[in-house]
Amino acid sequence: MLGLMQDWQLLCHRVLDHAALNHGERPVISRSVEGPLHATTYAAVRARALRLAQRLERDGIKLGDRVATLAWNTWRHLEAWYGIMGIGAVYHTVNPRLFPEQISWIVNHAEDRVMMLDLTFVPLIEKLAEKLTPIERYVLLTDAAHMPATTLRNAVPYEEWIAEVDGDFSWTLFDENTAAGMCYTSGTTGNPKGVLYSHRSNVLHSMMSAQPDAMGVSSRDVVLPVVPMFHANCWGLALTTPMVGAALVMPGAKLDGASIYELLDRERITFTAAVPTVWLMLLQYLEQHDLKLPYLRKVVIGGSACPRAMIQKFQDAYDVEVCHAWGMTEMSPLGTLGSIKPDYAGLSGEARLDVQVKQGHAPFGVDMKIADDAGRELPRDGKTFGRLKVRGLAVARAYFKEGDRILDDEGFFDTGDVATLDRHGYMQITDRSKDVIKSGGEWISSIDLENLAVGHPKVAEAAVIGVRHPKWGERPLLIVVLKEGQSAGKAELLAFLDGKVAKWWMPDDVAFVTEIPHTATGKIRKTALRDRFKDYELPSAAA
Ligand code: AMP
Repeated sequence: MLGLMQDWQLLCHRVLDHAALNHGERPVISRSVEGPLHATTYAAVRARALRLAQRLERDGIKLGDRVATLAWNTWRHLEAWYGIMGIGAVYHTVNPRLFPEQISWIVNHAEDRVMMLDLTFVPLIEKLAEKLTPIERYVLLTDAAHMPATTLRNAVPYEEWIAEVDGDFSWTLFDENTAAGMCYTSGTTGNPKGVLYSHRSNVLHSMMSAQPDAMGVSSRDVVLPVVPMFHANCWGLALTTPMVGAALVMPGAKLDGASIYELLDRERITFTAAVPTVWLMLLQYLEQHDLKLPYLRKVVIGGSACPRAMIQKFQDAYDVEVCHAWGMTEMSPLGTLGSIKPDYAGLSGEARLDVQVKQGHAPFGVDMKIADDAGRELPRDGKTFGRLKVRGLAVARAYFKEGDRILDDEGFFDTGDVATLDRHGYMQITDRSKDVIKSGGEWISSIDLENLAVGHPKVAEAAVIGVRHPKWGERPLLIVVLKEGQSAGKAELLAFLDGKVAKWWMPDDVAFVTEIPHTATGKIRKTALRDRFKDYELPSAAA
């Protein structure tokens, strides 16, 4: 027997309809790429997204067509997402930090018909345009007054382009499983892989994300998504924020400490989210200028492991709650979030931080397990680590044009992360499966060592890789970038780690470098480091 409830398809533009109708006057503030701050509302964003949808349709864009966006977080990019989705086309966020060859590869692979781009990226795309064969038209996210002379095919300024239609338009209706958005993972090896979100997965993911133990945002919040819309679906915030009716502040192209602080203070931001690198810049700026964060209530930090010292600094020096989160592009992207459950509520000081450095627990809609190399499930004891596998309502089941080969027999996706799970459901990443250091048959977590090393006051950034060793197979090498103007030797750094990890986890050597290479999404490029240090002779190996 079927239930007798209404069939109300989970379509992304319904989120914007809801925001416009129920929170229509809530502000959407952006730092425009042209410079000044720009203010609008959800009601106006919806009206303009409808025009955009109508204009795209007039250009012949239809259900299932891909439209690339190469843009910072601004109101225009938000309008673009909703306008594209509103006719059943697919927003394809292109990460400008990818290598140019990767950009042209993914645009061709996705077969994007239109590209909407910020002024910032015009020179980059002009150089690549010859290779971007599927693109029929470039829409520059600006107005005629700021439109540069460009060689881009059929280039038009966004404002004038959407003004060519009257806005008398309705969203298209289609099945909730229709594709809505696309984001390529920036794998460190091989070609990028396209993750294709559906309307249903995006809407459910946002409902999941809004819950108090997840992102926990409400209509009373002022949300600043520093995480770019081109990074892992903006961690869902481009949908979650209008869904709950929170005010939205978009940082545009300026993500440095001073610019982020200016927005936090001026717009009285209560909630924000980004990768640790962004917060490192902000915290340095706050310290240098002796500033406080009186309005900020909560910061979500993820994308790579959040250092313990960062959690401590936000909480102790600025009275801001830190929620450490983990996820991946394939998960829309939220997987776990680190709110404190009653099981740990009595903890304080270091014991509480021990829980907060974990990546958190799964909301409803995400199932996790850890398994050994043979696929056998491992105990949830907080100690045993194994391959982390996931399934859920917003987890990919296949990559675009790659066939259905990514799930195991029980429908779980191997995240490529290595983790522990404890009996309360808290997950802690100990490594990427490719980065874990295998010493004498045992595993050493490179992330644990990195987190400890960045706790040293003179260390700006640290990476740990396994280096070939005749006896142990691999041994850890600590690679360090010191803070500007600081000097320190190997002995000082090793003494700092001594006693904080098991003896056999201690790095065999320390290499000082001026820079650690990063991927397009800010992660340490371990493959490049392994390459650079592949012939490194550890002192312990020579002995
Ligand atoms: P992406 O799809 O680019 O967001 O990358 C996903 C990967 O980033 C995950 O599989 C993890 O390896 C890593 N990651 C994300 N969040 C965290 C975190 N909080 N701690 C450690 N690694 C993380």
